[in-house]
Amino acid sequence: MNCIFCKIINKEVPNYTVYEDENVLAFLDIFPVAKGHTVVIPKKHFETPLEMSTEEFKNFSAGVHIALQRVETILSPGGFNVGWNQKEAGGQAVPHLHVHIIPRYEGDGGGNMHSIVKNPGDKTPAELFELFKK
Ligand code: 5GP
Ligand code: ZN
Repeated sequence: MNCIFCKIINKEVPNYTVYEDENVLAFLDIFPVAKGHTVVIPKKHFETPLEMSTEEFKNFSAGVHIALQRVETILSPGGFNVGWNQKEAGGQAVPHLHVHIIPRYEGDGGGNMHSIVKNPGDKTPAELFELFKK
């Protein structure tokens, strides 16, 4: 498969590893938006978590947790934003699931999750909840 992250897992492309176990690889992002920007990927190719089993997602999440601890221990940032871009509409450029660990520093000028999009839609939360009741 012509996937840059699969190539990194297969060691065809080098990386700066932050953490690795049998299920995940965490490495420094090549175009960091912050000091210590790290991406964590499952070793098996999935585009999004929706294709993963609960067990696969649990194992992946455990790796994200350890990678987060490593970045915290080594860089001690003021905080983090952690998450993933999912599918084209969500801004995903590399179609191999990757969680971004973005360290945040006091006064860095960045935003928070609320700055990603402002598109609340035409229904209130109470109206939408009707769909989730079934
Ligand atoms: P996306 O926009 O898909 O959520 O993020 C893809 C991320 O992967 C970007 O932050 C980009 O800098 C990073 N990236 C893309 N190619 C490489 C690569 O070859 N090596 C590393 N370390 N990061 C990469
Ligand atoms: Zn892949």
